[in-house]
Amino acid sequence: MKKLFIVGIPLVLLLIIIMIMVILFFSIGYLFFDFGLDEFNEEEPEWGVGRCTQTGEVDMELWKEIIELHGGYLQKSGDKFLEVAEKAGIDPVLMLAISIHETARGTSDALVFRNNPGGLMNPDGSGLMRFDTLDKGIESMGKTLHNRIIKDGLITIEDLGSVYAPLDAANDPNGLNQYWVPNVNDYINQLGGLTMNCENTNEIEIRGETAWLVPYTKTITSTFGQRWGKLHAGIDIASPGIYGQSIVAFREGTVIVSELSGTVDGGLENGSGYGYLVVIDHGDGMKTRYAHLAKKGIPTGSKVKAGERIGLVGSTGHSSGPHLHFEILLDDKPVDPLGYLEEFDLLLPSE
Ligand SMILES: [Zn+2]
Repeated sequence: MKKLFIVGIPLVLLLIIIMIMVILFFSIGYLFFDFGLDEFNEEEPEWGVGRCTQTGEVDMELWKEIIELHGGYLQKSGDKFLEVAEKAGIDPVLMLAISIHETARGTSDALVFRNNPGGLMNPDGSGLMRFDTLDKGIESMGKTLHNRIIKDGLITIEDLGSVYAPLDAANDPNGLNQYWVPNVNDYINQLGGLTMNCENTNEIEIRGETAWLVPYTKTITSTFGQRWGKLHAGIDIASPGIYGQSIVAFREGTVIVSELSGTVDGGLENGSGYGYLVVIDHGDGMKTRYAHLAKKGIPTGSKVKAGERIGLVGSTGHSSGPHLHFEILLDDKPVDPLGYLEEFDLLLPSE
């Protein structure tokens, strides 16, 4: 009994020392871990100022297409959004993207029963605002956005997100606010880009005669080779926000196929085929394939230069999500594209 007691005291002391060391180790560890996250995390996209449309104006074709596809009860209000945004001096693309997200693609009760397309709350805390007509709701949203952007200087999507959907908000028990910035950005991309407070950072990179395929990202999510017992005949390029981004021609050539091969609706269960597909003949037995485009690409017969836009990234056909599937064929046999893309600083999958 006495012996046990004597052994017990040093043991307790030892345990306390170990605990202090563990606590110290983790606090210092977290310190370094945090620094690492800020500087080296390449997975997190840097949203910042969004990308611009190609022309600097609203891409009216995409505008109509997206409002029809995702607008729900907003479908007939496209012109009203344009008018209100112009009056308020704000970007109609940003306004519509926020509205599509805030109304869960034009289906929310706030929109349907309260004509409230911006998720605007009563300042007295009594919940969502109600408007007599949808036009009035859109006008009020325009004024609010004007105040946030022009008066308060909240220019980036992240700035706006921090007001519209603060990450630690009490009224966000399911943690949905974290999707605000990526979703609004995704709709902006689908609409072709912003027309204000934006910058074109996606420079087309050409090395020798070869261009990098998706200026938006260099992330390769799947390489050439056997996958699930089948040959994956190309590489997959994807990263968050890639939907609707430009795909450019690998090299100079002639478009010999531009068609829907398989289904329009993507998915691994229901989708089939390459979806919207472009094939370019580069001569000397070399062809390239670009699959799962968002919509029909550049027409058959087009002559293209390296780096020229041929389509937009999508998820049509047999596809697990928005990405570009790219193949190089030599005499109609697929070869590993990475051998031709060594000069580009690509982010390869770690496995
Ligand atoms: Zn693929």
